[in-house]
Amino acid sequence: MRIAVFAGDGIGPEVTEQALRVLEKLELPGLELVEGDVGGAAYRKHGHPLPAQTLDIARSADAILFGAVGDFTLDHLERALRPEQAVLGLRKELGLFANLRPAQVFAGLEDLSTLRPEVSGKIDLLIVRELTGDVYFGEKGTRTLEDGRRQGWDMMSYAEDEVRRIAHVGFKAAQGRSKKLCSVDKANVLETSQLWRDVVIEVSAEYPDVELSHMYVDNAAMQLVKNPGAFDVIVTGNLFGDILSDQASMCVGSIGLLASASLAEGTYGLYEPIHGSAPDIAGKGLANPMATILSAAMLLRHSFGLEEPAARIEAAVAAALAAGVKGGDLGGNAGTKEIGDAVLAHL
Ligand code: NAD
Repeated sequence: MRIAVFAGDGIGPEVTEQALRVLEKLELPGLELVEGDVGGAAYRKHGHPLPAQTLDIARSADAILFGAVGDFTLDHLERALRPEQAVLGLRKELGLFANLRPAQVFAGLEDLSTLRPEVSGKIDLLIVRELTGDVYFGEKGTRTLEDGRRQGWDMMSYAEDEVRRIAHVGFKAAQGRSKKLCSVDKANVLETSQLWRDVVIEVSAEYPDVELSHMYVDNAAMQLVKNPGAFDVIVTGNLFGDILSDQASMCVGSIGLLASASLAEGTYGLYEPIHGSAPDIAGKGLANPMATILSAAMLLRHSFGLEEPAARIEAAVAAALAAGVKGGDLGGNAGTKEIGDAVLAHL
């Protein structure tokens, strides 16, 4: 169980430290942690946000625990050298094609959502987003039409194998939850979506225990705010997933609690909080480490199949919250270490 630990910039190292305390407390046999530099911190040391030695560490590991990258003082650099390129580079180099974003409202935190508490309190869903295809990666350009008007264009496409592998991730995730999968597309308008839907239906034959439904993306956006409790696992393409996963996160309303995973084929994955490096609070001991702690729980579950310790971590976070330990992002005043201590105590 070799885990690469890339803490990164800003609050990244602070929140990662607390997640490592939690992992170490579990005394998992064979656990090995290897640290590497990413982002602005890596640029300052090695001249690149994703240096070769960091990639080597990533490749030699079974999973990555990632903090955050981003440093406004380096925004003058050319795009390829900016801290954020570390995440994009890791996705590309490691074939991380499946993004998992859970969104859950913890008991007692219903009021953080802008939705009514009786609606937000029911949110407990997982969005599985395809990460390496779709209109983001198709041919694109700008051209001048015969009549002189300028036109921008981007090609949307999915090959059936791309759909099949993300569909498998969705069905497997549903098997580990309440066995309901909703595939989101726009098959009434887009050929790409029609193929998506056909392939998802084909794959469903291998998962007779999972109930599959389909929803158009515009309706999904409405249902996410109308009745989010009706969703369990959603699987969708890159563009729709980008939008819906941010929407679902904000239905929860607390950036310091949201974890994510980016998975490759097999069990390899990168796990990180959805928040950034939060330069406004970096170095002050104010960051909420819970999203990173919950990312570590996802890591144990998805890369190592360790459901029991993953569930223990999640229960400890829920218990700390229920006991009133809340960071500034949740309207409380607990500091980073204090929150880490509370989670450890409940563990
Ligand atoms: P951000 O997520 O860093 O911060 C947004 C707001 O939320 C800030 O007010 C911040 O203080 C607060 N916040 C974030 N995480 C928190 C936590 N754990 N506890 C308490 N409060 C928290 O987004 P931003 O300010 O737009 O971006 C800052 C930098 O992070 C930028 O350079 C951006 O490019 C980068 N970024 C990186 C990632 C990543 O590493 N995957 C993701 C998003 C943004």
